Amino acid sequence: MENKINILDDLTINKIAAGEVVERPSSVVKELIENCIDAKSRKIIIEIVDGGKKSIRITDNGIGIFSSEVEKSFLRHATSKIKKIDDLYDLYSLGFRGEALASISSVSKLEMITKTKEEPIGTRVMVEGGKIVLKEPVGCINGTTIIIRDIFYNTPVRQKFLKSTHAETINISDLINKLAIGNPAVQFKYINNNKNMLNTPGDDKLLSVVRSIYGKDITENLIEVNYECNKFSLYGYIGNNNVYRSNKNLQHIYINNRFVKSKIILDAINESYKSIIPINKHAVCFLNMDIKPSAIDVNIHPTKLEVKFEDEQEIYIELRDFLRRKLLSSSLIGKYETYE
Ligand code: ADP
Ligand code: MG
Repeated sequence: MENKINILDDLTINKIAAGEVVERPSSVVKELIENCIDAKSRKIIIEIVDGGKKSIRITDNGIGIFSSEVEKSFLRHATSKIKKIDDLYDLYSLGFRGEALASISSVSKLEMITKTKEEPIGTRVMVEGGKIVLKEPVGCINGTTIIIRDIFYNTPVRQKFLKSTHAETINISDLINKLAIGNPAVQFKYINNNKNMLNTPGDDKLLSVVRSIYGKDITENLIEVNYECNKFSLYGYIGNNNVYRSNKNLQHIYINNRFVKSKIILDAINESYKSIIPINKHAVCFLNMDIKPSAIDVNIHPTKLEVKFEDEQEIYIELRDFLRRKLLSSSLIGKYETYE
């Protein structure tokens, strides 16, 4: 019967859904680190082998998962972060869809070791292709370690489309930089093929993180911004007229500490730099906008990269005008040429 309608089983559903959340190794790294941050970790260690294609190991010192809850964490739509849709309007966690662990574990071999401070002993589980194949008690410290091996081992087509180790590594490094910049109070340690790539101090200073990643050539040319209006507050650093780039790699935009792609914010920044940096060059910025969760919608795409504002136009104008005033009044500017 050609037109018979099948109801898909959970494993199949998870594998299909994984296509949205788990595009490549860096998406796994993103989801796992975001979980560490949501679990109130103060230190996160990321160890990558072969661009994440061979293994990804992430260790945190967060709240851990109770032994009795471990199985649930791998179910689709299972989350400790929201209970009902209204909770989205008061959401400060990075996750809420309860899809990442279900998706990741359905397309890889996953090992989790986790312990809460309330329990005397931890739990170790192995999940392969979405099935729990082992669960045992284990002695370990508080927090969670997740190891992903052989990503896409059971989806050969996806595996074939993985990029070179070099390309995947660049993606992962870029992503870790973004997450570290968004979370200066968290210490990040990133090791790639046994090589130390990044150490941030976790001293809650944005400038320390930027210095760890980009060095003092950048930090010496930044202007601190701190602004509050009735729509939002803004904190971070913007480049003076001595630093700009021909690409957008040094434009880091965050909303409520979540890094986002926001055309509105980028347009406001570009506009405010008019005649201060050359046309076709891009300003350097590390900016976090705090805004009440009910004024934005982060639930547009599973990767939550896009954000929609309730009052786009007002935010654009307020931001552009503030940045412009800040740039023109900054003592670092003044010798700037006018670029028409
Ligand atoms: P979400 O983050 O959207 O809630 P996930 O599938 O990423 O969904 O995770 C499912 C649940 O597993 C989380 O809600 C959380 O309770 C638990 N969890 C996942 N990772 C960690 C971690 N590193 N530390 C503590 N709990 C975690
Ligand atoms: Mg998550």
